Amino acid sequence: MSLATDLELLLAEAEAALAQAADAASVEAARVKYLGRKGRLPELMAGLGAVPPAEKPELGRVANKVKNGIAAALETATERLGGAGCHAGSAVDVTLAGRRRRLGRKHPISQVMDDTIAVFRRMGFIVAEGPEIETVYHNFDALNTPDDHPSREPQDTFYFPDGRILRTQTSPVQIRVMKNIKPPVRIVCPGRVFRRDTPDATHGMNFHQIEGLYVDKNVSLADLKGTLATFARELLGEDVKIRFRPHFFPFTEPSVECDFSCIMCGGKGCRVCKHSGWLEIAGAGMVNPAVFRAVGYDPEEWTGYAFGMGIERIAMIRHRINDLRLLYENNTKFLHQF
Ligand SMILES: [Zn+2]
Repeated sequence: MSLATDLELLLAEAEAALAQAADAASVEAARVKYLGRKGRLPELMAGLGAVPPAEKPELGRVANKVKNGIAAALETATERLGGAGCHAGSAVDVTLAGRRRRLGRKHPISQVMDDTIAVFRRMGFIVAEGPEIETVYHNFDALNTPDDHPSREPQDTFYFPDGRILRTQTSPVQIRVMKNIKPPVRIVCPGRVFRRDTPDATHGMNFHQIEGLYVDKNVSLADLKGTLATFARELLGEDVKIRFRPHFFPFTEPSVECDFSCIMCGGKGCRVCKHSGWLEIAGAGMVNPAVFRAVGYDPEEWTGYAFGMGIERIAMIRHRINDLRLLYENNTKFLHQF
């Protein structure tokens, strides 16, 4: 008998045996007997070496057919017996516990950014974005920054050889918007900003800001306070209070720093708020008339407020994170907590 005939007979035998198999154990026994490492099929295939080369392709084809035929018979038998086994390799064991897929989630910085934007959207602000590579004019000059202001120094700002810079704040977006549209303006500008800083627990070379600008007739500091108080309550909780302290920024006059009452201790004083009960969150103020003049708005007619804050700082407060660098290490074990 030829090897081809032996192979065909083996398939017929295996199919007959599997058609009669009464339980999963006999199916498994048949699998071992025919396809196992020392089974009948490998045994026959060992004879392939002695076959003349011209006959090999045809024999290979037959051997494949037999192997697939036995596998199909195994599968049919397994299904017939309830489909619970997985010995044939292709059947599904529905009794096995499922594998839980790990879902991705938003980075805490993105969460805070999205939530912050959502709060301001509800108050009627629209989102404006601009380039991260900026001109000195948009980033400093138009914002009334004195020529000798230290923030302009290459020690603090990244300059390109052509004189452009990586923006140090998102305020240049406000300039671009005001140059393009007439008041009233009510925008928030979220985005990444860059400063030449040595990274430590509270400073990074790049971080995220959101700034707001409202220009209309008769805008007052009270409007600014109301807006920021609403934001504080919506983002961090009903009990959060805010306060203003006088400050100085070139692009606003008067300027204030806005503190939120500490959400860790409720204002009683703790390590996070350095026992003051307050956390510095935002810089703000009434838009300096010099800025209005730079963009072609008449300061006699229009008034406005602007504010800006760091997203990382809010994320750190919200999630009690004590080191800014943790937010940038892409450690999924850390990020999965949020
Ligand atoms: Zn505190």
